[in-house]
This record gives sequence, structure tokens and C-alpha cells, in this order.
Amino acid sequence: MERVISVALEGVSKTFHRGGEEVCALDGVTLAVPAGQFCVVMGPSGSGKSTLLHLVAGIDAPTAGRVRVDGRDLATLSDDERTLMRRRRIGLVFQFFNLLPTLSALENASLPLQLDGVRRAEAERRARASLVELGLAERLEHRPHQLSGGQMQRVAIARALVSAPALLLADEPTGNLDSHSGEDVLRLLRETATARGHTVLMVTHDEHAARIGDRIVRLQDGRIVSDLSTARSASA
Ligand code: ADP
Ligand code: MG
Repeated sequence: MERVISVALEGVSKTFHRGGEEVCALDGVTLAVPAGQFCVVMGPSGSGKSTLLHLVAGIDAPTAGRVRVDGRDLATLSDDERTLMRRRRIGLVFQFFNLLPTLSALENASLPLQLDGVRRAEAERRARASLVELGLAERLEHRPHQLSGGQMQRVAIARALVSAPALLLADEPTGNLDSHSGEDVLRLLRETATARGHTVLMVTHDEHAARIGDRIVRLQDGRIVSDLSTARSASA
């Protein structure tokens, strides 16, 4: 099993049925993200960004085409295999943090490991290391409501990284933050990716956030309309 993994969408379409209407969220998307790349998909609201991430996470299935993670077509995996892949190899970060309000930062960050059967003491030891790496050493016992938005997102990133995922998926991670904490979160996403070497697929509607990637793919009405490597990757 590779520590760093690739993602590939091959002719992927996704159609939703709403009322009597068909909504085409993705329309023939082909995209290969090599292992270790920081790829940003940018597009306006409704362009299909969250749908794309859900397909890569195996939370939803495409109407047509193939989604490969680490070369494996997700449609050929059983539900259990997809769950295990998501739990052990993929980290997820969301716009609204999705922290459990009654749990401390440490408990929130250790939860994925505990759900995976890691004993509490060991899970908390690893969660503590992950929180410290993200600058939250002084916030371990705080509940989400005692934290700022930026701090909550850092806890969510610590939680996503606690299982040392090979792939990090981030959906508008700065969408609910002021520009200062947004900057902070972007810097941490970039630094942790560089330090750990995992693949990142981040979607955003924010031009400013997009520039931290090695590559910027633009999505419009469910189609890729441009695909550019950034100066960062050219000089790397
Ligand atoms: P983005 O994340 O770029 O804002 P989404 O992927 O959420 O875009 O949505 C793309 C399109 O698909 C939108 O028109 C949205 O309304 C539609 N859509 C997304 N999820 C569903 C769903 N579960 N049921 C019906 N329509 C959906
Ligand atoms: Mg979205």
C-alpha cells in the first residue's frame, strides 16, 4: 500500500433528480491528480465542486465514468472497503468544520482513530501530536464554542490528519473564515502537505485560496474549463 496516492476521474458525470428535473452536477470530467500534488479545483457556487469531492471520497457514486483512488476503481470496492479507505487513507476537511459540540478539541481530533478501534490513550496521544503540530497546544481541552472559527478549522484539520492520510480532501476550508484566519488555515494546509507529502484535492470558489496549489483546475457548470500549473510547481 502506497503512502501517497493518486486520484483520477475518467469521464465522470453525476446527475441528480430533483422534483421532475434533472440536474447535471458534473458533465464528463476527466482529471488525473498525481500522488503528492496539491491540486485546487476552483469554480463558482453550483459548479459541481462538492459533488466532485463526494465522489472521490466514495460518499456518492458517479452516474457515468470511473473514479480511481490509488488506481482502484471505487465502484469495484465493497461498502466496507470504501469505508475503510475513507477512514484510514483519506482526510476530510469541510467548510463548517463539522466538530462535535460536546467534545473537546482533543476528543474531536482523536475520534476517527477511536472509531477505527485504536485505544483511547493511544488515539489521544496521536491527536495531541496532531493538534500541537497545528498550533493548538493551549487549546486541547477547549470545546468548539470556546474556539474561534480559525481554531475550529485547525482542530478539524488536526482530526483529518490524525490517521496520517495519504490523501486530504478539503471543501471550501476557508469559506466560513475571515481573511486573516483563512490565510492561517491555507498556510497550514500548505505546510502540512509539504511536510507530510500527502496528495491534496481542495475545492474553493475563492481565487485567493486557489493560489496555494501546485495546480489550479477551473470548473464551470460541471465541466473543466482550464487547467494550469502554478509558478510554485514550475519552480519546485
Ligand atoms: P458547488 O459545491 O460547486 O457549489 P455542488 O456540487 O454542491 O456545487 O452542486 C452542483 C449542482 O448540483 C448544483 O446545481 C446543485 O444544486 C446540484 N446538487 C448537488 N447535490 C445535489 C443533490 N443531493 N440533489 C440535487 N441536486 C444536487
Ligand atoms: Mg460546495
